[in-house]
Amino acid sequence: MAKKQFKAESKRLLEMMINSIYTHREVFLRELISNASDAIDKIYYKALTDDALSFDKESYFIQVIPDKETRTLKIIDTGIGMTKEELENNLGTIAKSGSLAFKKETELKDGYDIIGQFGVGFYAAFMVADVVTVTSKALGSEEAYKWESDGAEGYTIEPAEKNSIGTEIVLKIKENNEDENYDEFLEEYRLKSIIKKYSDFIRYPIKMDVTGRRPKEGSENEFEDYVEEQIINSMVPIWRKNKSELTDEDYENFYAEKRYGFDKPLKHIHISVDGTIRYNAILYIPEKTPFDFYSKEFEKGLELYSNGVLIMDKCADLLPDHFSFVKGMVDSEDLSLNISREMLQHDRQLKLISKNINKKIKSELQSLLRNEREKYEDFYKSFGRQLKYGVYNEFGANKEVLQDLIMFHSSKEKKLVTLDEYVSRMREDQKYIYYASGDSIERIDKLPQAEFVSEKGYEILYFTEDIDEFAIKMLMTYKEKEFKSISSGDLGIEGDESKSDSESEEKEYKEIFDYMKGILADKVKDVRVSKRLKSHPVCLATEGDISIEMEKILAAMPDNQNIKADKVLEINKNHEVFESLKEAFENDKDKLDLYTKLLYNQALLIEGLPIQDPVEFTNDICKIMV
Ligand code: ADP
Repeated sequence: MAKKQFKAESKRLLEMMINSIYTHREVFLRELISNASDAIDKIYYKALTDDALSFDKESYFIQVIPDKETRTLKIIDTGIGMTKEELENNLGTIAKSGSLAFKKETELKDGYDIIGQFGVGFYAAFMVADVVTVTSKALGSEEAYKWESDGAEGYTIEPAEKNSIGTEIVLKIKENNEDENYDEFLEEYRLKSIIKKYSDFIRYPIKMDVTGRRPKEGSENEFEDYVEEQIINSMVPIWRKNKSELTDEDYENFYAEKRYGFDKPLKHIHISVDGTIRYNAILYIPEKTPFDFYSKEFEKGLELYSNGVLIMDKCADLLPDHFSFVKGMVDSEDLSLNISREMLQHDRQLKLISKNINKKIKSELQSLLRNEREKYEDFYKSFGRQLKYGVYNEFGANKEVLQDLIMFHSSKEKKLVTLDEYVSRMREDQKYIYYASGDSIERIDKLPQAEFVSEKGYEILYFTEDIDEFAIKMLMTYKEKEFKSISSGDLGIEGDESKSDSESEEKEYKEIFDYMKGILADKVKDVRVSKRLKSHPVCLATEGDISIEMEKILAAMPDNQNIKADKVLEINKNHEVFESLKEAFENDKDKLDLYTKLLYNQALLIEGLPIQDPVEFTNDICKIMV
């Protein structure tokens, strides 16, 4: 029979996994048992909601059978099974598509923790097995099929014999080698402890035949072997347990078993409510950003159970977008099993639960910020952007909830600060919360405008992400303090500048600047003397709502409407360059034309804006060189 090849990306991941020095090979069993449990969830739900189907409770189980003689480990489940097409589609592709492309080649070198990154599920089997055989019969189908693969060479699918619905996976366990002992995965006691460790809360019995020795009946010193079927897991779902009975490790294992994420969660939230609404929930704040988090593919949501039965994988209505990073589950007795997605949206209970949960998430984040600052900053590095989007989205409807959770880097200590921290240490005479936008902290620090504000001793918030300025525009004020870009017209700190200019000086500037404005025509709204420049000759300031950073962001959008900031060219009258301008204005208007264009283009470059005609610009520079 012809072998089929794995999809290219799958093959690559598979090879890396087989060869990786992954230290927790034992998790392969957790992955297979989780799949088995999911498959039983599906058939269980079908049976409960479809009158034509009926099974008794005993028919839901998972069985683990090691056999040292044949060096095989079997994992059997009575789940929903897979059709031929499903075997092909589900087991022929590894990991989420695109996950590999996401990682840089260099990070994929040896020892790279692939499971830790993507959770490759079923394929973990190849860490311990040379050959994997999956025989499955799907609910509602007459035939069974066998999928077999030795990993590298691809796989085969052929018809097979199987009486009952469900899936049987046979792992041909690898031979030991110098570095690795694989025998342990055939040892009863070892398997038992792996199951206890990772799969204790699986709701269905995980059965194993366990051998023991006992005194022979009627004899004191003779013993006999016996075999007894045991249920290895406790089966009580973790969310029904008392918080005091559970350890951090239990929560972490549940997180991993459920594949909520492949990192270690930063925090868990266990909620049990027994009032007008009744529900249990276990929520997690992950540590790392899932690779697709900021993409269109990402789906938010919590698992939803009705009295212990999984009714929905990702119930989006339970989480607002700004908390979309939260993972976990909710179980409520008050929800109907047969409820449809559409009906659920309008369900009063669900709305209450959602409201409740969101309050809880907010207060947990606040306490993290207050009491575990470092952890909060880790969290913020992963998901802060989402919170800022939250401030901006829905016309600021959630800004009250979120404004105390957002942070920015600041010029004072080059650390993240909250708005509250900023405002609480504002100088007495300070009217505004100052911020500066740019690609990076380093670039902002070099902005001519920043020099002046920092030297005056005012703290500046660095806005380095696209969303920052938009979010702040939505917020407008924080604790009644207005936000002010250091590039905006009036900074409110120029007042104490040295004596004002005399009337004749004013008149002189006006003539020159009007002339320069004429040269720049529609490019700038005005040319004026700068009150903020210190060592630089020139900078751009803006008037109105659109800043230069916003102009850049809007220009990069697909439906770019060519929206421009109202720019003002500011000239430093204390700079030598200004003398040259005056001189040119008197004696050589061509020269002033040239200088004006050069200064304008320089100002654009400083702001990171493109120059309209770079060739002309370099020619202009050459002109002053010769
Ligand atoms: P994941 O479980 O993360 O989707 P896997 O590679 O572990 O990734 O499994 C891929 C798919 O194969 C599952 O989503 C499921 O549809 C199917 N599958 C795996 N194991 C079983 C099983 N024992 N019974 C039924 N379907 C299964």
